[in-house]
Amino acid sequence: MTKVDDNYPKQGISNEEIKRKFAEAAISDTPTPIKHDFATEMIDLPSQGYFYPEGHPLCSGKLEMKYMTAKEEDILSSATLIKQGVVIDRLIQALIVDKVNYNDLLVADKNGLLIAARILAYGPQYDVEITCPSCGAKNQLAINLNQFESKDLDFSKFTKGETEFEYRFRDGKVITYKFLTHGDEKIIEQDIKGYNKVSRTLGIDTQLSTRLKHIITSVDGNREKAVVSKFVDGLLSSDSLTFRRHLKEVTPDIDLTFSFACDSCDHIDDKMMLPLGVSFFWPGA
Ligand SMILES: [Zn+2]
Repeated sequence: MTKVDDNYPKQGISNEEIKRKFAEAAISDTPTPIKHDFATEMIDLPSQGYFYPEGHPLCSGKLEMKYMTAKEEDILSSATLIKQGVVIDRLIQALIVDKVNYNDLLVADKNGLLIAARILAYGPQYDVEITCPSCGAKNQLAINLNQFESKDLDFSKFTKGETEFEYRFRDGKVITYKFLTHGDEKIIEQDIKGYNKVSRTLGIDTQLSTRLKHIITSVDGNREKAVVSKFVDGLLSSDSLTFRRHLKEVTPDIDLTFSFACDSCDHIDDKMMLPLGVSFFWPGA
């Protein structure tokens, strides 16, 4: 992930500052190649461009992002987008300079962009109030966003451009699976919403099986959705667990959890989820 220079202004960068930066660049001896009339930064993707089909714009493993301006702050203040729960996605989409289909982004890469965009806009310090889940005390934290790094993946185990991988279960069944993209996550969310009515009456949580049905792309060479679905529904818990452990090991990821220790009681949570609300991108909002 791109490390941001500590000298970078901690507060949001104004249009004036961007103009000044470019004015400085224009008078410096070495000509700066300026492709756009706005400031941008190349961001390294956690996937390093693996797991996208050959020729895909994300294959390079880098993505050009613009610095946040008042235009993007307008997105953040849109009550409609906030209500729809899409405000952060719209923001990231607006910041991406390259022509890419946002739905194609692997979840890990999307999270990488999220952290990078926040650091570019306001620096790595994230002041946030965390309510202790044990005693309810409000803790004021200053989280260093530079701690959220991509998982160390052994990329030598993968072939660049390959988007599907094989896995063999104990009974000899061979499946192929893929890593989820933002687009997949949206479909899964809709599926789960659809099942919710049924599952509530039955008291069943379909979250896990629904996800597996999207991750697994074929069973013994058969790519039919009905076949995959039947296979997942009949999967033994122990096999499901082993497969999920395997997935956790090989899936590109940015761990967005941090260690939390309450000021008011002895509660410690090593895996607290980083709160990613609108205030993540708009300190003091
Ligand atoms: Zn507490």
